[in-house]
Amino acid sequence: MTSKAPSITVSPARRYRVAAGHRWPVEVRPAPGELLSSWLHRLAHANGVPPRYFGAVLGAAGETWSAQLDRHLPDAVRRLLLDHTSICPEEIDGLCLAYSALSTLRLRLRSRPQDAGTSTAQSCWLQFCPTCLREDEVPYFRRSWTLATRVSCFRHGCRLRDRCPSCGQGLAPFRRDRLVPQQYCAYCDASLAKPTDPVNSGARRLERLIDDLLRLDSAGRAHDDRKSLAERLARCLVPVGPKTSTIPHLSQRVRHDFLRRLSERQIEARDPTERCPLNLWDRLANAAGNHNGLVKALTDQLAETAGLQRTTCSRTPDLAALLRAATRLHEDCRSPVEALAAS
Ligand SMILES: [Zn+2]
Ligand SMILES: [Zn+2]
Repeated sequence: MTSKAPSITVSPARRYRVAAGHRWPVEVRPAPGELLSSWLHRLAHANGVPPRYFGAVLGAAGETWSAQLDRHLPDAVRRLLLDHTSICPEEIDGLCLAYSALSTLRLRLRSRPQDAGTSTAQSCWLQFCPTCLREDEVPYFRRSWTLATRVSCFRHGCRLRDRCPSCGQGLAPFRRDRLVPQQYCAYCDASLAKPTDPVNSGARRLERLIDDLLRLDSAGRAHDDRKSLAERLARCLVPVGPKTSTIPHLSQRVRHDFLRRLSERQIEARDPTERCPLNLWDRLANAAGNHNGLVKALTDQLAETAGLQRTTCSRTPDLAALLRAATRLHEDCRSPVEALAAS
């Protein structure tokens, strides 16, 4: 029996890859100083994929997939991102934390983000400035907000926050299963942009000093140099009630309080167990009262070793010149900060 019905012609549509190329439909450029995970969440959102499922697209497993990629970016994921976006290799490496000499001072990542909510003394993996988030055209999280020695925003002078102001949980944009921007809490949907109080002035002075010294000391150092200032600060004990901990394991509240009390000389120079002197913290607190003098002393020491002229003018020391001198010394095995600490 033969059918008289007209035949249906099926012709395959052009494959998406042929029509649009390898790239994902919406391009998202990284913002200045942006953290890799923040860019990934924005990339996922712009292309219509909730962040929780974008990890599977990249082949990255685990609930905290994007925060893990900040700390270690496997070659396969890196290649995939280079293939499907217009980002270049130098840019993507710059978004990661893995290649930084300050890696050891980053806030610790817990396997389950909600664990950080069990104690307000424990660190969360990321902190943020609510005013920066509110003012950003497209809100994003900065790499500098992952440093445990940072407790305030240098731009706004306000305290950073490491928990949702509404429910108290740590940030978890990687678990978001709906298309909601990352400046809203993944647990309760509240805005994270609620302002914070100004940072204590003593804590801010000490924080600035530590930040300058870290940048100076890390110039030219290998990221795993055990003698670096970052490594030494990461190991240096911090008293927390009757116990001690180290700064990457502590919450923003505890770290801010520690720097404030240190600057006001309310902390004994020894930890409660008397095993480890808090000498390094103590020395930094002493120096914070005369920051310019310390920077000038370092400038002179670096310039002398690098064969440059000693500074003779009394103007405020130029940190850029100091960093240039430090870079010239990158092969010197003894750091100027170390030498100063030993003197
Ligand atoms: Zn800010
Ligand atoms: Zn919340």
